[in-house]
Amino acid sequence: IKDGPAVLERVKAEEPKAANRADGNTPPISALSRSVRIPPAPDGLPARIDTVEFRDVTFRYENGPVVLQNFNLTVRAGDTIALVGPSGGGKSTIVSLVCRFYEPVSGSILINGIDYRERPLQWFQSQLGIVLQAPHLFKGSVRENIRYGRLGATDAEIENAARLVNAHGFITQLDRGYDTEVGAGGNRLSTGQKQLISFARALLADPQIFVMDEATSSIDTETEQLIQRGLETVFAGRISFVIAHRLSTIRNAARILVIGRGRIEESGTHAELLARRGHYHELYTSQFKRERLEAALNE
Ligand code: ADP
Ligand code: MG
Repeated sequence: IKDGPAVLERVKAEEPKAANRADGNTPPISALSRSVRIPPAPDGLPARIDTVEFRDVTFRYENGPVVLQNFNLTVRAGDTIALVGPSGGGKSTIVSLVCRFYEPVSGSILINGIDYRERPLQWFQSQLGIVLQAPHLFKGSVRENIRYGRLGATDAEIENAARLVNAHGFITQLDRGYDTEVGAGGNRLSTGQKQLISFARALLADPQIFVMDEATSSIDTETEQLIQRGLETVFAGRISFVIAHRLSTIRNAARILVIGRGRIEESGTHAELLARRGHYHELYTSQFKRERLEAALNE
């Protein structure tokens, strides 16, 4: 793959500093590289991530107002945490901090009880599988793009990952199947198809922490439900953070956090939050009405 090594170099060179990047919180190249598997953890690094903890995390973007103040959250292996809430509430900021695209201004993020800044950035990145709203594909074939998840993967493993996220079907219908050129120049895929390829790539990396920020926003509801089933198996035993616009995507999450103005306004399961008749209930009923209206209009 042509630009593979260059990208890895760039990631190595690009140490995040607290709140001093003005280039958006989800830079596509480095975001993608976060799902690239880097050789086995050196001695002394945990083989398994059991907890991710935000402890009194305060954060602001450079020159900006405080976005998170004394934010606390503990997530254990096996948990899927869904973040919902109004635009600008802080959901993407929280997951950007998890990914170490940014670091806290004060407080800390602990991995198995140890501040993640005490561990090598590269090791930590290799534990993450990230799918974002605007997926980035490299110039190369579909197969190569999925293989970025794990450079040593066999064709069979690549196909298996694609099947799990329901991407195999559309890929085999492309001119040259898995050998179809995509990315700069060869770019003929829809955003939804790119998202599916990003999902396959993240899955192949076999990460300990999954982060999905509006990752299914351009995928139709039916395909999303198929992916969902694939992911439930994959998420088992791991930590995942899911930000989704469609509430149907996250209703099975272990815990749903309603994020507003940088705070957790509500937290609980889908059923618990509905019963509270607060923010979540409001979001859910308004979305439900809108979906029904759209369905009626489409008939
Ligand atoms: P959400 O994902 O819930 O829509 P965000 O985390 O993107 O919310 O945004 C939280 C706050 O941080 C907003 O006020 C937003 O304007 C601000 N913000 C987000 N990204 C940046 C950035 N890269 N630079 C400066 N401010 C940002
Ligand atoms: Mg966001």
